[in-house]
Amino acid sequence: MARGSWIRRIYQEGARLAAERGPGNVFDFSLGNPEIEPPDAVLAAAHRLLDRPHAHQYMPNAGFPDARAAVAAQFAERVGLPYAAEHVILTVGAGGALNVVLKALLDPGDEVIVLAPYFPEYAFYVSNHGGRMVPVQTDAHFRPDAGALAAALTPRTKAVIVNSPNNPSGVVYDAADLDAIERVLARAERPVYLVSDEPYRALAFSGVTCPEVPRHVGNAIVATSWSKSLALPGERIGALAISPRIAAAADISAACTFTNRTLGFVSAPALWQRVVAELGRLAVDVAPYEEKALFLHRELTRIGYRCARPGGGFYLFPATPVADDVAFTQQLLQEGILAVPGTGFGRPGHMRLSLTVARATVERSIPAFERAFRGVTAG
Ligand code: PLP
Repeated sequence: MARGSWIRRIYQEGARLAAERGPGNVFDFSLGNPEIEPPDAVLAAAHRLLDRPHAHQYMPNAGFPDARAAVAAQFAERVGLPYAAEHVILTVGAGGALNVVLKALLDPGDEVIVLAPYFPEYAFYVSNHGGRMVPVQTDAHFRPDAGALAAALTPRTKAVIVNSPNNPSGVVYDAADLDAIERVLARAERPVYLVSDEPYRALAFSGVTCPEVPRHVGNAIVATSWSKSLALPGERIGALAISPRIAAAADISAACTFTNRTLGFVSAPALWQRVVAELGRLAVDVAPYEEKALFLHRELTRIGYRCARPGGGFYLFPATPVADDVAFTQQLLQEGILAVPGTGFGRPGHMRLSLTVARATVERSIPAFERAFRGVTAG
């Protein structure tokens, strides 16, 4: 709990500050919770499907066969590989998907490489199932470093987790990044699975291509959800898609069906399986996220912050103007800004800003970002 409480701690400090100064004087960039509503068609389908007879019963643990087939067709269309129902397990969000596949794949002591900066929950997900997380730094632009990845591979490496568009950096990996990863994994002594955690795929910004990972990497297992693409994170619907190119695809699918049950999920929420089977191709409008991200990126850069330009998702990950990111986020807190130190994401010297706040809040926060920056760089 002590290791995992960065975001919560900031959130609590923010609540205290809001009570003290009034909520209008606190700029909360700490939590990534979509502020927008799900598309109308999704809500209408949920209302309609709720009333179907016997809609709320148990079903096979991997999900309704027709819902799996429909989601497999969505993957096949998008990725261009022959996904069928047996390659898809419907899960309790992307978080559920990651736990299900790690439980299925890992033997005690197996290593799982994650690329830093990384989603902090990975550390817990890996240790939940007896694995050991091995963080590998990305390069200065937060892109995978194939040399560092190759150096981290050992005979115990079972999986690598990648996440693009990335939380926290906002970076989208391109085809060359993925091809380089494939070349490294192909040299491993035993199969190393690339778990592609992609809940932000639908939030790639205009003009940014987010390549389909299983087209570039043979042993790819996609873990995803509709939490962000349909703004439904509280409904907990996600999926695993095991590439038809994987030699052991049938065994992995059977193992994931088993672990989906034995981890206590039993299966994914019935109503939402039906909704995504029908409407999983839809996505919310990314324009408001993109507009806010690019506005804040422009303003922070003007002030003097160093910040990678985001390609998707709803986060920015600027360098802190002093090396001690924890101290600088405390400084920001004095200005009413809640940001999460990069230390929590395995990349000190940075901070994560989540853009699920209102546009007006982002605008009003700029002078506070400027004061904090000048406060530590003056003289
Ligand atoms: N992976 C990443 C990188 C995330 O940012 C999140 C949620 O914020 C998840 C997984 C979990 O997503 P879900 O809510 O669908 O379980």
